[in-house]
Amino acid sequence: MATRTVRVQDLLGLLHGLYPPDLAEEWDNVGLQVGDPAATVERLMVALDPSTAALTAASEQGAQLLVTHHPLLFKPLRRLTPDDPVGRVIWQAVRGGMAIVAAHTNLDVAADGLNRWLAERLALTDAEPLQPVTGQLLKLVVFVPFDHVGPVTEALFAAGAGHIGGYDQCSFRTSGIGTFRPGPGTAPFIGETGRREQVEEVRLETIVPQRRLSRVLEKMIKAHPYEEVAYDLVPLANQLPGVGLGRIGRLTAAQSLGEFAEGVKAALDCQSVRLVGAPERTVGKVAVCGGSGAGLIHEAKRQGADVLVTGDVKYHEARLAEELDLALLDAGHFATERLAVSELAARLGKEAAGRGWSLDVLIHDGEHDPFLVR
Ligand SMILES: [Zn+2]
Repeated sequence: MATRTVRVQDLLGLLHGLYPPDLAEEWDNVGLQVGDPAATVERLMVALDPSTAALTAASEQGAQLLVTHHPLLFKPLRRLTPDDPVGRVIWQAVRGGMAIVAAHTNLDVAADGLNRWLAERLALTDAEPLQPVTGQLLKLVVFVPFDHVGPVTEALFAAGAGHIGGYDQCSFRTSGIGTFRPGPGTAPFIGETGRREQVEEVRLETIVPQRRLSRVLEKMIKAHPYEEVAYDLVPLANQLPGVGLGRIGRLTAAQSLGEFAEGVKAALDCQSVRLVGAPERTVGKVAVCGGSGAGLIHEAKRQGADVLVTGDVKYHEARLAEELDLALLDAGHFATERLAVSELAARLGKEAAGRGWSLDVLIHDGEHDPFLVR
C-alpha cells in the first residue's frame, strides 16, 4: 500500500490538534514561521531553539522541517538579510527548502505539555495547573422541537461540543413548551403566519470550547428544522481541565531544600541550580514552571507551595520570594525546557504512526545551555 505524502500543513494540523494555537499567549507567535505549507515532509527534527545550528543539523540529517519550542519571529522584520540573526535563519531555511514551525506557550499550558512533563520529571504527585486557563468554554443552550432532538444532538457532538475531561457526548435535556408567532414573510416549519403556536420543545444544553464554536453553530443550525433557531451562548468561568501554566504537586516524601536541589539537578541533567531559601528548610509542596516562571511567585505562595522551580529568576524576584518566605530553585531556562524536545518528538512520532504516515522524527541532540558554570 502506498503511504500518503505528508506535507508541512499536515504536521501543522497534527501539532495544532495536540496544542491548539488559541491556548497561546496573545503576544506569542506559534505555528508556521518559515516555509511552504504544501512542501513534502519525510523527516523532521525537534529542537528547543530555531538556531542556524539546529537548522544545519536538521538539513544534514535529511529533515525538511524543524519543529521548535521557541518561535523564530516575534517582531516585524524591516529587511531580510543573512547578516541579521533572525534573517540568517530564514535565509538558510528558504535556501535549503526547509520549514520551521513553533509550539511555544500553547505547548507550555497544554494538558499533556511542557509543564506536565516537567512535573513528571520531578516526580510530583497529584500535579495540577498552577495557573489554570479559563474563559475558553461556553455553555450552549438550544431549543429543539421534540422529534428533532436526535439529529441536532448528533450534529453538536460531531462538531466538537460536549467534551468534559475524558468524557464526550455530554449534554442535558429538559422538556417544556415553546411559543412563537411567525411574522409576515416567514416560512415556518410548524404553525402559520400571524398565529401564536405552542410546541413541545426540548431545552438541550452542552458545552463548547471557544475554538470550535463557529463550526458547532454552523452544524447545529443546519441540523435544526426551524427557520430561526433560538439558542443561548453563555461564557463560562470554568477551567479547561488540566490546562494551564505551571504545575503544583507534592513530593512523595518531604525533604530538605538542599536534598531536593540535588534531585532536580539529576532529573534535569544540569550542572548547577541557584537557590533562594535556606538549604535546611523542608519542602513538600512544589510548584514548577518551565522557562521563565518568576511571574508565578505570588500564585505559588498563595497555593501553599514550599518552593517554585523555574528559570530566569532576576534579583528583585529573588528578593520578593525571600520576603514571601517562598523558596526558589532556578535551574535555568534551558534545563527546565529541554525535556520538551524528546517528549514532543515522542508524541509527534506516535501520532504520525497512528495516522499511518511514513515520517521520521529526530531530535536535535547538539543543543546546549548558552550559560557555562565555572
Ligand atoms: Zn522558553
